[in-house]
Amino acid sequence: MVTLDDFATAADAIAGTSSKREKVRVLADFLRGCDEEELPLATRYFSGSVFATGDPRTLNVGGAVFSRVLRDLGGAGDAEMARAWRQYADVGDVTRAVLAGKDDVPAGAVTLVRLGGLLCAIADASGVRSKTAALRDLLAATTPEGARYVAKLISGDMRIGLREGLVEEAVGVAFGAEPAAVSRAVMLVGDLGEVARLAVHGTLADARPQWFVPLRFMLATPVADAEEAIARMGEDVWVEDKYDGIRCQLHRRGERVALYSRDLKDVTRQFPEVAAAAVDVPADVIVDGEVLAFHGGMVMPFQALQTRLGRVDPGADVMRAVPAIYVAWDLLVEGDDVLLDAPLHQRRQRLERLGPQERIALAHLESVRGAAEVNRRFQDARGRRNEGLMLKQPDSPYTPGRRGLNWLKLKQPLDTLDVVVVGAEWGHGKRRGVLSDVTFAVRVDATDDLVTIGKAYSGLTDAEIAEMTKLLLESTIADHGHYRTVRPEIVLEVAFDAVQPSTRHKSGYALRFPRIARWRHDKPVSEIDTLSRVRQLAALGTVEREQRVDQAGDQ
Ligand code: AMP
Repeated sequence: MVTLDDFATAADAIAGTSSKREKVRVLADFLRGCDEEELPLATRYFSGSVFATGDPRTLNVGGAVFSRVLRDLGGAGDAEMARAWRQYADVGDVTRAVLAGKDDVPAGAVTLVRLGGLLCAIADASGVRSKTAALRDLLAATTPEGARYVAKLISGDMRIGLREGLVEEAVGVAFGAEPAAVSRAVMLVGDLGEVARLAVHGTLADARPQWFVPLRFMLATPVADAEEAIARMGEDVWVEDKYDGIRCQLHRRGERVALYSRDLKDVTRQFPEVAAAAVDVPADVIVDGEVLAFHGGMVMPFQALQTRLGRVDPGADVMRAVPAIYVAWDLLVEGDDVLLDAPLHQRRQRLERLGPQERIALAHLESVRGAAEVNRRFQDARGRRNEGLMLKQPDSPYTPGRRGLNWLKLKQPLDTLDVVVVGAEWGHGKRRGVLSDVTFAVRVDATDDLVTIGKAYSGLTDAEIAEMTKLLLESTIADHGHYRTVRPEIVLEVAFDAVQPSTRHKSGYALRFPRIARWRHDKPVSEIDTLSRVRQLAALGTVEREQRVDQAGDQ
């Protein structure tokens, strides 16, 4: 019987070597030692997920609940918790340190299968009290070493240097399967645990998409301009408007419909009107597309749609104010036919044969030749205040989870803001021991007041981060453990995709996908951007977009 402590020992060995081959060897040995029930669990846990792809359950353990249980079990006070965070900056290591004195359970007390059961109990518990109790049951049953990996699992990040590709490789090595056969099965089945089960039985070739198990999404490679797009893709390309909504994969089989988001979560209950409409699609299908907010013949801005995010079973008033439609651009399965390897033009033809219908539209598509025409379409799209264009190679297959050159995305150049750093957090993993995650602010016009607008951690070089850490330590006003307030001295230029109203930050706005573009050593704090410029940028983004949707069904 495999236990959590066996898992921890193998995970430590994997983390302890930088050799990919050795990591794969250790994991393959471990997987071979698992029985049928343990194998899918071990495979999933090593790749950092608790549940199978397509399983709608989530643990949903907040930081506050986790900290409370940890404090209780470890008997730690504020100062000790803060010290542990400062020293380790990793939830697993902090957990082990706080629970270090806990010696009431022997190693091996929790089997992997029992761990699975205790994790399910956390997912099934609703309300803070029962969630706290379920988490307590789990952490109380484990050794500090085991708890370390439980914490990593709960946070969704194992940090043992094991990319998913290596877990796939280990499944192949463990059961004597070709790497290509394993990755193809993963592409089709989606869930690595299920693939491991197929591999044991030597039936990887039987893998095919499962109804109501989401496939990974095909991704696009960004290009700077039309010339680059044509150079990469050839003269004849298909262009589609790049809609700014929520990517969703739609499964429809008989009366049952499900929508899955990009992170493979079931979001059907957030968009009941789309789900209800999809029942009328005249075939069983798996479709790729995007949910958009659509009202009075116009696509509403992303912000409007955002009000529906996370809202399960929205009321009639919400659905009336922000009606959702689905724009489809690809057909992956129709009935018994798996179409992933069929060329895009065939998939599109079959999609068109199914036809648009109420609330389900087809993405606007044009076939163009050469950079000049792409540029024209791009300008059109920008004129419509659209995000940009998607360029697609008409002969290409659908490759789940891959970012290749068969789909390119062309976006408008990004805006930037000059901001000042007002707070910083210790980084994780590679960024451990440096203050890499910064909170920044803009100035309220004609005052010295600063209001926060976002957080970012990517974009600077390691040398810059090291230098910044030194300055941030010197300029700390208050140390709150893993967060510190600093004197506003460092000016950064941040890039982002959009500015949106938000209650998360003091400014009343938040940036979408913020990243650090440059350290503005040249710019004094007195010259950073102001709240009125933020308002201007936000207003630009809210002008309604006349995106093209062929026969979208909202009247
Ligand atoms: P990325 O995900 O960053 O590779 O960029 C592609 C994203 O653009 C997808 O995830 C979709 O949400 C979005 N998108 C908008 N319109 C389209 C389209 N016509 N085809 C594919 N993706 C689209």
